[in-house]
Amino acid sequence: MIWLTHMAFAFLVARFFFNELTVVQTLMLFFSALFPDIDNKNSLIGRFFKLGTKHRQLFHSLILILPVGYLIFKFAGKVYFEIFLIGSVSHIVLDSLTKAGVGVLYPFKFRFKGPIKTNSLLDYLLFFIFLFLLIYV
Ligand SMILES: [Zn+2]
Repeated sequence: MIWLTHMAFAFLVARFFFNELTVVQTLMLFFSALFPDIDNKNSLIGRFFKLGTKHRQLFHSLILILPVGYLIFKFAGKVYFEIFLIGSVSHIVLDSLTKAGVGVLYPFKFRFKGPIKTNSLLDYLLFFIFLFLLIYV
């Protein structure tokens, strides 16, 4: 999925859990929704880090996301932990609908896959649907 689709979906999901977010919390949600793509050197966030890890494995795995979430819980508190989970897990859920799929439990080989191609018309359509719901519902 393109980063815009991830962003719109994360903010839509967050709306079910929070009535409002502070500026810092909004930035945290923005970062969390992009965080898994830190493993892709061509992504919006990955181009700043160039980690050299394989795309959609470790950083798209709950086996990494949950310990990172625990550290956020320990050092920043429950609200930031919840925001991080909403952003990163919503990202992984959307990526699991793509043809390339995602290693949700990496290093285990099992991958969730779906019918959607990243950067396709359907990807953009989903973005506009999420954006519409975000604005009008
Ligand atoms: Zn991703």
